[in-house]
Amino acid sequence: MSILVTSAKWLWESLLDNNKDETTTTTTGELSAMFYCKPCELHVRRLEGFRKHLWSLKHAVQEVRNSCTQLDLVTRKWAKNYAAKPEHATAKIAVWWDMDDCPIPEGYDARQVRPSIEAAFEKLGYSGPVSITAYGDHKRTPTRLLRGLSSTGVALAQTIRQVIYKRMNAYLMEWRDDNPPPATIMLISDHMDDGISRSLVYEQQLKKYNIFLAYSYRPYKMSALVTSAEWLWESLLEVSETTTPVLDKCSERSESTGMFSCKVCFDGYKSFDDFRKHLSSDDHASFVASVLSLIRLNQQNRGYSILRDLRKGRTF
Ligand SMILES: [Zn+2]
Ligand SMILES: [Zn+2]
Repeated sequence: MSILVTSAKWLWESLLDNNKDETTTTTTGELSAMFYCKPCELHVRRLEGFRKHLWSLKHAVQEVRNSCTQLDLVTRKWAKNYAAKPEHATAKIAVWWDMDDCPIPEGYDARQVRPSIEAAFEKLGYSGPVSITAYGDHKRTPTRLLRGLSSTGVALAQTIRQVIYKRMNAYLMEWRDDNPPPATIMLISDHMDDGISRSLVYEQQLKKYNIFLAYSYRPYKMSALVTSAEWLWESLLEVSETTTPVLDKCSERSESTGMFSCKVCFDGYKSFDDFRKHLSSDDHASFVASVLSLIRLNQQNRGYSILRDLRKGRTF
């Protein structure tokens, strides 16, 4: 006999059998419930019962009726915007803008992009110099928009969809080397998780950069980045639709590196016209073609090595 005074004792196996005859589901929310269905507010004790429930019509109906609003309520809290801390209030802000994901809306004046973004920063108490680089396939961006952006000091960086995140990430790392904290990094994209945020999470933990995000729709899962502010792209653009563009801000640009660059050919251009000329040149076309064929080759090689592994009987 144990020297402990006990209130109950079981033989291990009989303890495990204890639950056998009980019903599989319960709506009373007992402590012993292992599974919980949020849309139905239902506690389920066993995996089998929970599985059965997830396939039921009742659950399907409840999920349609309840889950959307719940998801919205949760994600709305993600975008809490905090006032600038003193060390970040006047520090520089660098913006990486994925223009394919977050384009300029129809009818919107491209010259308003910079003042709107800056107005949103100022609302939170940020007044440091802002540099913005617009990444995208600018062969498809209307000239009027490109001119509007560059006239307000927004740098234009040509990429193609297949390498955009690689390039954004590479130039982010390059920028980081020249710009130690305190500084703010802003990403405008719906594909934060495609390589960019992973390296940024590391940077943030190591060096304490301040992070902003903007996206065209709220992500279905929370980013691993700790952000100080988040915006929906179109609402960000509405911040200062009535003000006139502040052109002299261009001179405040923290970087003197090219306003016009091709991140496929790794080249910079002195003027807007040189940049446009490059995009329609044979040189650019053949560079794009070689990058694309390299990607195809890599994919093919990956396919072959999977096939080879399968033939060797390796399992994954
Ligand atoms: Zn359910
Ligand atoms: Zn090029």
